[in-house]
Formats: sequence, C-alpha cells, structure tokens
Amino acid sequence: MSLPPHDTHEVFNQSPPYEDVDLFSSDRPLQDAVRANGAAGDAAALADFGRRWGAAEMLWQARLANENEPRLERFDAKGFRRDVVVFHPAYHHFMAESIGAGLHAMTWQADGSPAAPPAEVARAARYYMVAQVENGHMCPVTMTRAAVAALSAEPALMARLMPKISSRAYDPAFRPWWEKGGITLGMGMTEKQGGSDVRANTTRAEPAAEGYRVTGHKWFFSAPMCDAFLVLAQAPGGLTCFLMPRFAPDGAVNGLRLQRLKSKLGNRSNASSEVEFADAFALRVGEEGRGVRTIIEMVTLTRLDCAVSSAGIMRMALAQAVHHARHRTVFQKRLADQPMMRTVLADLAIEVEAVVALVMRLCRSIDFAPRDSGEAARARLLTPAVKYWVCKSAPGFVYEAMECLGGNGYVEEGMLARLYREAPVNAIWEGCGNVMCLDVLRAFGRDAEPARALLDALVRACGDLPGAASAASAIADALGKADAEARARALVEQLAQLAATAALAESAPPQVAAAYAQSRLARSRGATYGTAPLAGEVTALLLGRALEV
Ligand SMILES: Cc1cc2nc3c(=O)[nH]c(=O)nc-3n(C[C@H](O)[C@H](O)[C@H](O)COP(=O)(O)OP(=O)(O)OC[C@H]3O[C@@H](n4cnc5c(N)ncnc54)[C@H](O)[C@@H]3O)c2cc1C
Repeated sequence: MSLPPHDTHEVFNQSPPYEDVDLFSSDRPLQDAVRANGAAGDAAALADFGRRWGAAEMLWQARLANENEPRLERFDAKGFRRDVVVFHPAYHHFMAESIGAGLHAMTWQADGSPAAPPAEVARAARYYMVAQVENGHMCPVTMTRAAVAALSAEPALMARLMPKISSRAYDPAFRPWWEKGGITLGMGMTEKQGGSDVRANTTRAEPAAEGYRVTGHKWFFSAPMCDAFLVLAQAPGGLTCFLMPRFAPDGAVNGLRLQRLKSKLGNRSNASSEVEFADAFALRVGEEGRGVRTIIEMVTLTRLDCAVSSAGIMRMALAQAVHHARHRTVFQKRLADQPMMRTVLADLAIEVEAVVALVMRLCRSIDFAPRDSGEAARARLLTPAVKYWVCKSAPGFVYEAMECLGGNGYVEEGMLARLYREAPVNAIWEGCGNVMCLDVLRAFGRDAEPARALLDALVRACGDLPGAASAASAIADALGKADAEARARALVEQLAQLAATAALAESAPPQVAAAYAQSRLARSRGATYGTAPLAGEVTALLLGRALEV
C-alpha cells in the first residue's frame, strides 16, 4: 500500500508550477510591441521559441546553471598555466541554445553590416524571452553580437572573424579561434582605479611584430572563456581598442592570467574574472587614440541588451505573481479577485506594458538607423535614457512581485529569489545610472536640433495624453539650465516615461496608454506599486493581457 506523501496533512491551495508555458503567446503586450514595430511576420517562429524556452526542462536547467557556479582552473595537472573556467553542463546547454538560435549574430549580415529590419526587433523579442529564464549566459551572447559594431573599424580583421562569429555552432573547446567551429567575444575596459572613467586606464600596449603586446590588468572581465576580447589600453598614440585572443598567432596560450572569479550577488552562472595581461598579444581595432570612439559602438548595443534583459526579468516576475494570485485563495477569495491585490498586480502589469513597448520601439529605431537619420538620432538620444530607466526599475519591481507570492516568493526553489539577485546588475555594468544620465545630457547638448525634433515627435505620438506636452517642455527647459547635471536623473526619468507613453500609444490599447500617462507622466501615483488610480475596467484589461491562457 502506498503511503500519502505527508502523514500529517494534505497539501492544497498552492499554485501549480509556472512551467511548460508559451512565453510569447501568453504575453499580449509583447505580441503587440512586436507587431507595432514591424516583426508581425515572425510571430509563429516567436511562439515556437516561446514554447521551447518556457518548457519545464529549461527552467530546471536554469536553476542548475546558477546553483553550480563556474570554477577557475589556473593550472593543468602538470603545472602549466591554462587559466580556464569550468562550467556546469547546464551553462553550456544555454550557450548552445542561444547561439543555435542566432542571438549572438542574427542582426548582422555575413560581411558584418547590419541585417535588414526587423532583425533587431525579432532578436530583442527572443532575448526578452531568454532573459525570463537564464541570465548569466546572456553576457557572452550580448558581447559577441555587440563586438561586431566595433570591429567595423577594422574591415580586414572583421572579414576574418565574421565566418566564425556568425556560425550557429557553439564550440566551447579551449583552442585557437581559427581552429574552432564558432567563437564568442568579450570586453575588457574596467580597471581597479576606474570603470566609468576609462581614460584613467593604465594598461599599456606596445607595438610589436604582427600587432601589439599588452601589459596591465582588468578588474572586471566577464565571460573569460570567450575566444577573444575587445580591450582598451594606452598605446603610444593614446587610449586604443584592441582585439586580444586567448591564443597567440603561434598557437601558444596568450598571456591572459585569470587571477580569480568574482563572488557575485547574482548572475552566478556567468563567470566574471579579474585578469592580468602579461605581454599579451593583441591586434589594434581602429586608430590609436580613438579607443573610446571605437568601443562605444559595441557598448551602445550592450546597453540596449541591458534594457531588454531587465524588461524580461520584470516580465517573468510579473507572470509569476499573476499566476500565483490566480491560484491562491485567501480569506475565501482568490488573491487575483481581492481588490487591493488587483490594483497591485495591474500597477505592475502597466509597468511591464511600458518597458516592453519602450525597448521594442527603440529596437525599431536601431533597425532603421542605417537608412533613416531621424531614427538614428532617436536611437542615439534615447538608448542611455532607456538603459537608465528600465534597468533602474527592475530591482524594485521584482521585490514587489516577490511579495505577491508571500513567503513562497522568498525561497530559492522558486524563481523570484534568483530574479531579485539578478536584477541590479544591468544598471551597474555597461555604465551606471549617473553615467547614463550624463550621456543623455551630452547627446542632447551635441545634437540640439535632432533632440528638439525627437521631443516634438514624442509629443505628437502621445496626442492629447495627460502630462505629455508639459513633460516635453519641462525637459527642454531643464536641458538649457546651469544646474542640468544636478537635476539630470529627474529629467532622464521624465524623458524615458515620455518615450514609453509614446511607444504605448503606438502599440497598446488606448486605455493602457492613457492610464500610464495619467499615473506616470501626470504623476497621480504614490511611491509604491498599487497606488496608481486605475479604473476597474483598465485593471481587468491589464490583468487579462498580462498572462493570457
Ligand atoms: C558582474 C559584473 C561584471 C562586469 N563585467 C565587466 C566586463 O566584462 N568588462 C568590463 O570592462 N567591465 C565589467 N564590469 C564593470 C562595470 O562595467 C563597472 O563596474 C561599471 O562601469 C562602473 O565602474 P566602477 O565599478 O569603476 O565604478 P565607478 O566608475 O567608480 O563609479 C561609481 C559610481 O559613481 C558614479 N559616477 C561616476 N562618474 C560620475 C559623475 N561624473 N557624476 C556622478 N556620478 C558618477 C557611477 O554612476 C557609479 O554609481 C562588470 C561589473 C559587474 C558588477
């Protein structure tokens, strides 16, 4: 006779696991944003992708990848230096999935030029779903796709690398890049004395036969098992960008000495190392002295991915909260029917509506930038604002979603605890919050005419939605003032919310755009979720759209 699982009680009133879901078809705001930004034709493939990534097995592998952290092996059994990182098979599983799907390269053509629209939107939709499942492996995937933008400064080098970069075969072997079926690329800028101010880099590069020899260090050096890295170092002509491979041209292991792996708050499946460069071989990318100009092409795209990824993290936190509330009964009523919980969930849902609309609209600008100067300016002006706002929003958002699950939200077997630890990093790396705001000021100062045109376009898109016109004039006024830097956060926040309202006006139902404008731009909301004045029918609309069954 089989015994019941518990002798003492029956387990009931627990929500079923949130797994085996279609991450695309259950997400109406994502479907709307994809359609509004030109990728409707990709919907069937996105639904396949959403089912694959929402499978219970994927969610389980994500847990394994994060609970079994990578390990540094500096020497082999005979004492030779190797400096390799050993990962759990689950990490390799995700790398193979994402690279197999082309997330590291699908926005480029074979020669490294941008792919035709809607490549950026289509990739971002996939990236957004991947971010809901496993974040650590996305670091090398992001850096690989973004590195191509910097490599365009060196066409001959790009031509050699592109066949390996664009391959959809994940090849984790520790071998020279030219012998491998596919490669990944990383990035090294941050040193001990400064990360935001990279001009303070002390790493030196001396011209040598075939290239340069680099000596120095990097204090944060993520995904060190990439096959090559774009690094900044001081050449005779000033700060310069280099490509530093793991193997020197003669096939010897190059002088990248991994010192240790960071012990991190989150992002645990990914290895982030400290590295010293001991006379390491490197090739110059772009002219000497133009290192920041060259690598910024890469950084712009990694910043975009930070925003898309934070939006994905928020989406998964919301989905978990709504799912739980629909199945949990408290005080004889489902949580999802309790009036105050409905307002909390709807206030969370409208935030995700806004961030997904915002990032997908930005991706459309990047899609069209090569052929439309207005979209190029929009991308330039808004990328730092979107990175700032979306990444900053994620940690507080995940915390509130976690509370919707009560105690179950706080334990490691569920997903919220990992999402909560993951959420802050996107705001820190690739330019912290203040640095993003300074970037917005710089971009608006440099491109004054396109900036005015952008504000006008945003207001036009918003129509007569509350708060839009006054937000735009407040931003324009503040930009010219002497204290603009001191007030930059307020200004950038308003800009991002104005852009989000405009994006919602283009992709979401009018009631959603109006409720967002009313509660965010017209500022009729308190400091916590659940304080937005949302009408009953808007609440019902938001909750239905958030998780379609
Ligand atoms: C997990 C992880 C992985 C990473 N991986 C990599 C990697 O692979 N490659 C790499 O190059 N870097 C990497 N980084 C480093 C990251 O990009 C830097 O930490 C970041 O750019 C900030 O630099 P910093 O730590 O030196 O801080 P600082 O530059 O000292 O900044 C500290 C604070 O000061 C603020 N600040 C700076 N300037 C101003 C100003 N003018 N006015 C007002 N405030 C200002 C910043 O916003 C920040 O809040 C990683 C970081 C983490 C956490």
